[in-house]
Amino acid sequence: MKHTSYIEISESAIKNNITFIKELLGEDVVFSSVVKGNAYGHGIEQYSKMAYKYGVTHFSVSDAHEAYKLKTTLPYENVSIVIMGMIENNQLEWAIQNNIEFYVFEKDRLQFAVETAKKIGIKAQIHIEIETGMNRTGFETKNIRTILEYVNKNKMHLNVKGVCSHLAGAESIANYKRVTDQTIKFKRIINKVNSYDFLNPMFHLASSSGTIRYPKTRLNLVRIGILQFGFFPTKEILVHYLTKNKQVENPLQRVISWKTKVMDVKTVKSGQFIGYGTSYFTNRETKIALIPIGYSSGYNRALSNTGKVLIKGKRLDVIGTVNMNMMAVDITFADAIEKGDEVVLIGSQGDQEITVSSFNDYIQVINYELLTKLPENLPRVITT
Ligand SMILES: *Cc1c(COP(=O)(O)O)cnc(C)c1O
Repeated sequence: MKHTSYIEISESAIKNNITFIKELLGEDVVFSSVVKGNAYGHGIEQYSKMAYKYGVTHFSVSDAHEAYKLKTTLPYENVSIVIMGMIENNQLEWAIQNNIEFYVFEKDRLQFAVETAKKIGIKAQIHIEIETGMNRTGFETKNIRTILEYVNKNKMHLNVKGVCSHLAGAESIANYKRVTDQTIKFKRIINKVNSYDFLNPMFHLASSSGTIRYPKTRLNLVRIGILQFGFFPTKEILVHYLTKNKQVENPLQRVISWKTKVMDVKTVKSGQFIGYGTSYFTNRETKIALIPIGYSSGYNRALSNTGKVLIKGKRLDVIGTVNMNMMAVDITFADAIEKGDEVVLIGSQGDQEITVSSFNDYIQVINYELLTKLPENLPRVITT
């Protein structure tokens, strides 16, 4: 292995989380595994292969590049791939040819999909996205009749696989009003769509938060990202789940670990600055370990003088600034630490653990952001 750090992906944790999600949803709701952002940093190829192994056949991504990766990783007939976000007109033909489903959220794209489908003689598999209050992408509800009439007229070129919208913050009770208003609006859309006999789409609205917090929003399909990787979207959603189910233990397991090795150790005299600038000053003789990780490896620079790592089962402080490719750890009071010793940035060692959410205690970065910033080029290794 030529890399200075690597990510471990736990197969048993994936299995545990997928089983949990499937049991939660029951038979009638489709679980679409959201693997955008390189599967939330877990590695889209490695993760989706595992998810498929444990029975997931429906995936959602954000762009054509991710759809392409997924298609080449899982080239099977029984796998559905949906592009939820951006797709260029020149990628549309490829998508239609390869049976990749995609969202349409404005008239131009819809028309272009029809034209392309007509040209190549293959139906476009679309999901009609509705604007219900997030104010992101989606057709305005007042235009829905016109859109459905247009779809009706061109139904020989279109297969409407889904009609969907997205909730603007189901992870916090603070957004209760907004989210319930959206749900009501979407229910009206469902009724309208159902008045067209030729349409029989899957309706979908919920992501992880909606699935847990507002079970009525599960409809025919849910788009679940963060839960499958072992995280509740917020503490609030976790507490809601536990209280509602009279449980005390988090039923999910962290899938990811991130590890590296000590590259050097040395002793610095008292009265010295460590690393760039003057952010860390030794008030005593200080033993340090140098770690080949920096902000280019996805370790946030805001963790300078703040981050924690595990070496030899001990929780140790990052001291000085996080450099592009290196940082220092104070090992003065640790047992003998040597070059080559394992360093855990995320994960467990002995009876200690560095959780992903612990980063949020030090710096304002949510799980989602921390995970997706893990560089694509770090190796992802499957472990048990
Ligand atoms: C990212 C995303 C999801 C998944 O969200 P989680 O909170 O990770 O479950 C669902 N739907 C859309 C449209 C998304 O962009």
